[in-house]
Amino acid sequence: MPPVFPFLPQRLDGLVDIACNLNWTWNREARRLFAAIDHQLWTRVRHDPFELLQQVGPERLAQCAADKNFLAQYDAVMRWSAAERSASNTWFAQQYPQQSRDSIAYFCAEFGLHHTVPIYSGGLGVLAGDHCKTASDLGVPLIGVGILYRAGYFDQEVRADGWQEDTDMPFDLARTVIEPLEGPRGAPHLAMVRTAGRDVFIKAWRLQVGRVTIYLLDTDLEQNHRDDRPLLSRLYAGGPGLRLKQEWLLGVGGVRVLRALGIQPAAWHANEGHAAFMFVERARERVAAGERFAEAVQAVRASSTFTTHTPVPAGHDTFPADDVASCTGPVWEELGIDRDTFMRVGRHPADSSGAFHMTAAAVRLSRRFNAVSRVHGGVTRKLWASLWPGRREVDLPITYVTNGVHLATWMANALMRLLDAHLGAGWGNRVDDPSLWDDVLALDPQALWDAHLKLKRNLLVHMREQARHLFSQHAREAGRLAGTGVLLDPEALTLCFARRFATYKRANLIFRDVERLLKIVGNPSRPVQVIFAGKAHPADNPGKQILQEIYQTTRDPRFEGRIAFVEDYDMHLAHVLVQGGDVWLNLPRIPMEASGTSGMKAALNGVPQLSTVDGWWEEGFNGHNGWAIAPQPGDNTTEEDAAAADQLYELLETEVVPMFYTRDANGLPQRWIHMMRHALRAAGLRFTSRRMMMEYVQDYYVPSIRGETTPDEAPTG
Ligand SMILES: *Cc1c(COP(=O)(O)O)cnc(C)c1O
Repeated sequence: MPPVFPFLPQRLDGLVDIACNLNWTWNREARRLFAAIDHQLWTRVRHDPFELLQQVGPERLAQCAADKNFLAQYDAVMRWSAAERSASNTWFAQQYPQQSRDSIAYFCAEFGLHHTVPIYSGGLGVLAGDHCKTASDLGVPLIGVGILYRAGYFDQEVRADGWQEDTDMPFDLARTVIEPLEGPRGAPHLAMVRTAGRDVFIKAWRLQVGRVTIYLLDTDLEQNHRDDRPLLSRLYAGGPGLRLKQEWLLGVGGVRVLRALGIQPAAWHANEGHAAFMFVERARERVAAGERFAEAVQAVRASSTFTTHTPVPAGHDTFPADDVASCTGPVWEELGIDRDTFMRVGRHPADSSGAFHMTAAAVRLSRRFNAVSRVHGGVTRKLWASLWPGRREVDLPITYVTNGVHLATWMANALMRLLDAHLGAGWGNRVDDPSLWDDVLALDPQALWDAHLKLKRNLLVHMREQARHLFSQHAREAGRLAGTGVLLDPEALTLCFARRFATYKRANLIFRDVERLLKIVGNPSRPVQVIFAGKAHPADNPGKQILQEIYQTTRDPRFEGRIAFVEDYDMHLAHVLVQGGDVWLNLPRIPMEASGTSGMKAALNGVPQLSTVDGWWEEGFNGHNGWAIAPQPGDNTTEEDAAAADQLYELLETEVVPMFYTRDANGLPQRWIHMMRHALRAAGLRFTSRRMMMEYVQDYYVPSIRGETTPDEAPTG
């Protein structure tokens, strides 16, 4: 049930409907409409329409309802919304008319759609969110299945000594777009899953993302045992035991909820191994219907896709067999097999402990298995070669679909307006035409630079607002304030580094040689400043230590406020950073970054990237759109890190800084601007989620639906 706003004039009551479907978040006119109600308030409520409608005064709403311009805008948005709902001439419908009624179930442990729905932690979730938005744009009949984390992901507060505190701010469901679904005959639950010897009732909520619906599972029901109610309330919190239960509930509960709703997907996609039990549940269904286990597995494989997202071991869940047995048991009886046979589904040939590997299980239960970039494809083959003993790595049935980002979500309005002026207002319909992106190379330098400076100002204003907020809260000390970015210089070359503080991402690489860095940032005629943001995983103490190291540096007087840290990295802050920096920094230890998507978001805003050649940059760097740190020889990580840092300084000193500060008679850095145009072109050509989704549809979903049979190369190891 949508929230009720007693002061909303009837003439404007469609605003609630608009706010209830997240597609407003990537429609410029809809966003402009909310902003037009009260610009300042819209900024203050961080683009939350329900909060806006709650807080805006009745007089202002009455004014809007009487304002001809506002009403024209409103009516146009209402027409767009109706047209979106009924559109039938989508890309998918045109390409695959006979498949238009088949649905594709997409399971993921997190979805990052908008910061007002905090059920994501980072890259994986944002990618899943972009996937759903793109499915909506293209008319792909995708259905999302995830978890409603009532307490969201943790909020970050950094103590004065730089240590990250993980605080919880449960969000108010009544003030979000998430709607509860009723079970049959008014029951509060839709499904039941047995775990650890108890039945757990599952309720589902609906989140509408354009044409795509995401179902979110929830166990906070009175019918459930006290200990089971909070099972799904926190994302990536608690120990492995809780995590295992969450994954069991997501996989099994997700399938059962879809069945209860009468949804029969024709293709199934597990996005990351967290969702692998979805395959187990579908095998169980088939066995219950009379098939033998081996046949059931074959049938499940035929319609299934599994995507792996990281080479980092901590990203691949592994559970002790006994824990899996007590969480899921005795599901093997329902599968018509013994316990050992079941455990072998999750066996890693190189792990003699007998632990259950979610990734291995997902690989054995899905026919189509892909990585998320070309280099990650190679790394994944190495990692999982032992599942196919005796075969050459290059021949393994492991493919890749390079990730992409959702253009309309990540490109700033200022850039879109620039493209309107340069390419014509209908450019959004021509994004599949490569010549459109070639035309970007002729963007007017002054206009592009002006648009960028506006976004950069916006970033610095944001930093100051954060500082003001901190100051009013608790940080009334000059040293601490300097690190918040109040001293940042709007003219200085600004590097942004925002990502999870995992050690392999090497946020501290730039501090390896402090003296050398001081010379770079402290050059009075060519100053450089760096803005950091990111959370460390609550259980990642080494990550927290790096964060602390960075934080303490921000307060080091020798840097004179040129290094800043901004708290609570989320999608809102990500927008401000990827749009407003001059350079996007990315320094993962090769080959640990499977893809990395924030650099693509920056590039869509004309922001060049300086990155190690890992993840998407191995495909994306073309010599014109940024800078690359080549793979470093080295016998150990210390040597590698030292060599990479050396290249980083070298690039900054000899290329990045001089290019930024070389200006023509009009004050324009012409070569720099050329690089910005190339950044935009390369991202538009290859790194949008539109290209990514088309690949998934053509090479994975539609072949699954049609039951196309290339030889099944099931693992034998
Ligand atoms: C895009 C995004 C990420 C992922 O960025 P990487 O480049 O993969 O590190 C993480 N968090 C947020 C909030 C994002 O928007």
